Formats: sequence, C-alpha cells, structure tokens
Amino acid sequence: MYTLDGIMQELERKNPAQPEFIQAVREVLESVIDTVNDNPVYEKYRIIERMTEPDRIYTFRVDWEDDEGNLQVNRGYRVQFNNALGPYKGGLRFHSSVTLGGLKFLGFEQTLKNSLTTLPMGGGKGGSDFNPRGKSDSEILRFCRSFMTELQKYVGPDTDVPAGDIGVGAREIGFLYGQYKRIRGENTGVLTGKGLGYGGSLVRPEATGYGTMYFAQAMLESHQDSLQGKRISLSGFGNVAWGAAMKATELGATVVTISGPDGYIYDEEGVGTPEKWAYMQYLRSSNNDVVAPYAKRFGAKFIEGKKPWEVPVDLAFPCAIQNELSLQDAELLVANGVKYIVETSNMGCQAEAMNYFISHRIPFAPGKAANAGGVAVSGLEMSQNAMHLAWSAAEVDQRLKDIMINIHHSCITEGMEDDGYVNYAKGANIAGFKKVADTMVQLGY
Ligand code: GLU
Repeated sequence: MYTLDGIMQELERKNPAQPEFIQAVREVLESVIDTVNDNPVYEKYRIIERMTEPDRIYTFRVDWEDDEGNLQVNRGYRVQFNNALGPYKGGLRFHSSVTLGGLKFLGFEQTLKNSLTTLPMGGGKGGSDFNPRGKSDSEILRFCRSFMTELQKYVGPDTDVPAGDIGVGAREIGFLYGQYKRIRGENTGVLTGKGLGYGGSLVRPEATGYGTMYFAQAMLESHQDSLQGKRISLSGFGNVAWGAAMKATELGATVVTISGPDGYIYDEEGVGTPEKWAYMQYLRSSNNDVVAPYAKRFGAKFIEGKKPWEVPVDLAFPCAIQNELSLQDAELLVANGVKYIVETSNMGCQAEAMNYFISHRIPFAPGKAANAGGVAVSGLEMSQNAMHLAWSAAEVDQRLKDIMINIHHSCITEGMEDDGYVNYAKGANIAGFKKVADTMVQLGY
C-alpha cells in the first residue's frame, strides 16, 4: 500500500528546493491515492515512483551576444517527462523565474493535461531563464539561434515537439524553427505554434483562451447556467487572456479586468473588443510589460500594484502564472459572491486557495483541464503537418470545442462527489492519471 506521507517524504528528499514540483505532485496524489491503492498492479509496476521521475532532463549553456557586443550566458532546459502516450509535448518558457523545479512541475502537469486531450502526446517542458522583455528583435534572434543549436539534438517530430509558453510566442517560434531548419535541413512539425506560412494551424493562437471559455461554457451548462450576462475577471494580458476575453464577449459575457506586473485595469465596458486588444498587442510588442496606458487610452481605471481578485464578479479566470491567486484572494472572491473559478494558468491557484474554493463548493476548473485547448490544437497542428495539409478554421475550432467538452465530461465522470458537487480538480487528476498509468502497465517497464 502506498501512503501519501510516505511518497511525499521520499519525493521531498529526492527533489530538495523544488517547492512547485512538490506542490503539483501532492495535489495530484491526494486525488489519485485511493484509485492507486485499489489497483495493486499500479504498485507492482511502481507507477507513482515512475510517473514522478522525469524520463530525462537536458540542461545546457546558451551563449549569445547583446546589442552592445557583450557576451551573455543563460541556461537552457528540456525536461522530457513522460512519453507513454506519444512524443514528449509541451511548451518552452522564457522568463527570468524559470528554474529546473518549475519546469519539472510544468512537465508533470503537462503529462496529465495531454492525457486529458485524448490525443497521442506525452508530456515535456523546457525553456530558459532568459527574459525576452526589453530585448531587441536581433537580441531575441541571436538567443533563439543559440538555444536551438543545442536543443535540436534532443527534439524531433516523432520524439519531442516543443511549442510556446510564457515569453515564447510567434516571433520566438519562427526564429527557433528557422534555426532548426538551417541545421537539419528538414521541414517537419518539430515545433507547434508555427506561422501559417510554414505549417502552423489556424486557431492555434486563440486556442488556449477559446478552449478555457468552451470549458467554462460546458461547466455552466451542466449547472443549468450560461455565460450570457456574466461578469468576468481575468489576469494577464497575453495570448491566453486575449483568446478568453474575445470568446467570452462573443458568448455574451463582459470581461472587466486584465492585469500586468504593474497592476490591473478595471474596464466596466468590457475589455474584449478588437480595438482594445490591438492596443494591448501593441503595448506588448513595444516590450512594455505594463497595462497602465490602457486606462488613459480607453477611459478605464488602473489600480496600481494590485491583482484583479478584489473585483466582485461571477467568474474569475487566473490567466497569468502559477500561484498567482492566494488564499486571501480566494476568501475575497467568495465573500464577493463569485460563482465559478476557471484556472487557466498552470497551477494558477495556491493549494490553500484551491482547497478553499472546493470546501466552499464553488465549482473549480483546474488549469490542466481548462487550459488544455492550447496543447490540443498543437496536437491538431501535428496531425495536419503529418498529413501535409491544412484544415479550415471552422474545422479546427469544432475539434477544439469537442475536445474541451470531452475533458469536461471526464471531470464529471471521475469527480462527482456524493453530495452531487463536481470536484473538477479531482476528476481531471484521476482521468489524466489513469490513462498514463494504464498505458505504462501495458508497455511493461
Ligand atoms: N504551453 C502550453 C501549455 O502549457 C502549450 C503547450 C503546447 O502547445 O505544446 O499547455
């Protein structure tokens, strides 16, 4: 018999100073421990030990020259976490906060998330402590070239397929793909999130944001409710927040906040118009990591140094980064009458915050279910590349919608509790875990 304490003690011993990885694993194990102990074959095959140990990790030095001619040194990583279900798949994060422990947490989450999509993808994650903010295009180009010169040794369309994440968007994917092609002389689907001209998929840029809103829509429908007329707060102002705000607006809701490192915007009129998002995109592309100018431009309020969780809303969507929503924020949201939480960043809520929502019976969608639309459309991009053809936007969008509804269904199947409350976090963990675990058993050790 496995015990939670026993596993966690051993895990902490083996992974010192990696609190996010420990947090992510604990959250999953709390959900799956009974399922595991009910199936002795999982212990026989040491599934817990094997699923919490990455298959392999590459770290490498990335040297690049800045615009002043100085040599800069960063660290690059690729964590190939688990390939039971298919090639390693997951994004690259370029952000000053990137550490090995952080990427292990993301790779572990990605394995379960990718399993939930039902597409044949294993889990991986990578990146660098390089921060693209404030860098010129040519500095980013030189960094990406140096990064891919090393990374290309470890990836391939049937082995490991990276994509974007925080700090890695269309521009970075283009530069990375250009270097891969230069070295390998291949046109393959080795990366996803590519530009449309060289194998990218329609709807990929919007996919995470659209997907989370399709998930929310299914969640509300199952509670005999709808997005029509709802007030929504979301954090962040990147690709994910953009897709979510646009789809929410289309579905009749009003998104009243966005946020950046400098504070948040409160816009009573709603942030989800093409004009407002074009302006945010301009702000991002001019390398200003701030949302403040939006307030002046569109007559909204800017609240400096704070997060948007103090605003009374029906639904809250953390869309920025892990642990961005604390217990205090959760208490405030619940006191202000929030009805649903849709975590859209990976592990956006601190463990205490998530547990608070669940104990107050607020339907809580975990990131690994709600944000799976991004990687799901990456999976569809891989399919299109393998077939050497391109689907229409309508086709990709319909498949995305079907996948999100299916994930919602899996959460209900595995997460329904005796009182009728759906514990989506538990449901997603069990559904994602079972498929990987059963496959590992079938494959032998
Ligand atoms: N970085 C995204 C995620 O966290 C997308 C990964 C991908 O498309 O491979 O799921």
